[in-house]
Amino acid sequence: MCENCAREDDDLVNVRRVYIVPESWDTPGSSTTLSEHELWCFSCRSQYPHEEVEDG
Ligand SMILES: [Zn+2]
Repeated sequence: MCENCAREDDDLVNVRRVYIVPESWDTPGSSTTLSEHELWCFSCRSQYPHEEVEDG
């Protein structure tokens, strides 16, 4: 089951969620990658920023 949307799916991949802070007039953009692994379905992987985790 996908740990992001809780949908049952065969196509799940281990990812780290990435939080993107958009650039604005007074701050540069930045992003934060969480160290925690989550299993995400294809739909979530296509919609939300993330990094795929290598096996191991
Ligand atoms: Zn999902």
